[in-house]
Amino acid sequence: MKTSPYWWEHIPRENTKPHSQPDRVDVAIIGAGYTGLSAALVMAKAGLSVAVFEAGQLGEGASSRNGGMLGPSFHKLGIAGLTARYGAERTNQILRESISFVDFMDGFLTQNNIEADFVRCGRFLGALRPKHLDAMAQRLESLQRACGVKGEMVAQKNQAAEIGSHQYCGGVVYHNDASLHPAKFHHGLVKSVRAADATILPFTPVQHLKKQSGEFVLTTPLGEVRAERVAICTNGYTGPQFPQFRRRILPLRSAMIATEELTPALMDRLLPKNRVYGDSRRIVAYYRSSPDRKRILFGSRAIGATDQPQKNQQNLHRSLVRTFPELCAVKVDFVWSGLVGYSFDHAPHIGQRDGLDYAMGYCGSGVARATYFGTKLGYKILGQTDAGQTDAVHPDAEHAEKGRTSFDDLDFMTKPLYTGNPWFMPAVLQWHKMLDGWGL
Ligand SMILES: Cc1cc2nc3c(=O)[nH]c(=O)nc-3n(C[C@H](O)[C@H](O)[C@H](O)COP(=O)(O)OP(=O)(O)OC[C@H]3O[C@@H](n4cnc5c(N)ncnc54)[C@H](O)[C@@H]3O)c2cc1C
Repeated sequence: MKTSPYWWEHIPRENTKPHSQPDRVDVAIIGAGYTGLSAALVMAKAGLSVAVFEAGQLGEGASSRNGGMLGPSFHKLGIAGLTARYGAERTNQILRESISFVDFMDGFLTQNNIEADFVRCGRFLGALRPKHLDAMAQRLESLQRACGVKGEMVAQKNQAAEIGSHQYCGGVVYHNDASLHPAKFHHGLVKSVRAADATILPFTPVQHLKKQSGEFVLTTPLGEVRAERVAICTNGYTGPQFPQFRRRILPLRSAMIATEELTPALMDRLLPKNRVYGDSRRIVAYYRSSPDRKRILFGSRAIGATDQPQKNQQNLHRSLVRTFPELCAVKVDFVWSGLVGYSFDHAPHIGQRDGLDYAMGYCGSGVARATYFGTKLGYKILGQTDAGQTDAVHPDAEHAEKGRTSFDDLDFMTKPLYTGNPWFMPAVLQWHKMLDGWGL
């Protein structure tokens, strides 16, 4: 069993370390995941000089480790919770914007010529209890009313057409959701960013950041770099160098397994429509087939804060077999994990704090969101900066408008005494597990 992501089999890792870095750039981006790279792409295409610093190898973070499942990622609070917090008008805007994320990704891949096995496959969510099915029906109806989401309920008697599992008593299908190959997407983004003349520096952690004479000075193992603007795109990997963000992000570990190759007949029986899948548990299980339809990839919250491949493998295999009992003898070929960045209010956040630009907090649904908010972040900086201003590049209203989102200015909250170590999460997860076990 390999303890690296299945996706890396198709996109081998780049291990070349840079020997130098620029002395000065218009914009320094910290983190070379989807957020940092899509922000870099917008700004480099517009003519700014951009350097992207990555602590590890390219794709070290969540962006080449995830499940590659895309959807609108509607806010966990639901429409009523969102309305109570933000009012009806803002809620409407948030829902309408969220529903555009998958179309945005479709266009983004096409415009940038990125081949990443993108398929508009739809998502099936299974209900573990009849009351979960009722809640799913209510949610679908209110989303259809609010923003015209395309979906349909699936009764238990028709479920075999969707999934070869007896674990559920029906479910819901969201037709617009999609899947892609996360590492191919990341690799394509890296190529596009390089083609736009931005510098990407793997194995170059930003160790220190200070403001001096109106500029930022970043320290890396290669020395100092000056930058007009700095974008923090570190999400679940935000370190102590950036305490103002670290205390607002909960880094939670998510793990996945990939089975050995299965027969086409078995794949057709278990996942007949080749969608992406999830269910009504609090500790959500998510799964899909590999793009070549030979394996099942199955993920959920990981055991513990550090990577524990053996325990994750056992736990995920148990969960897989609960869903598909006929897979009890199937071997697991790959197990891996990575960190997702949660925010305390379950919403993504974008903006500026202490003069630093940022986008993060996708709460485990960041394939489309990180690309979308990274792009928005790029436009925001372009709309405000006079960095690199030439006749061709001006801070302008068009860029500022393109950078606007209904997620602007949401309160990026923290909690008293929280500094970035979610020590309380094992107890919270245990509690959620118990509630799931009781079907509540
Ligand atoms: C196992 C798993 C499954 C997932 N499945 C899905 C899914 O199916 N669908 C979905 O939508 N989302 C999924 N996600 C979440 C999604 O992958 C993330 O939300 C998204 O990739 C975040 O992108 P990012 O660019 O913001 O952060 P990341 O890709 O995490 O990148 C942040 C980078 O910052 C770097 N960094 C940190 N500090 C520094 C520093 N000081 N200097 C330089 N670099 C630094 C890190 O090394 C890291 O590479 C999953 C995540 C995991 C881990």
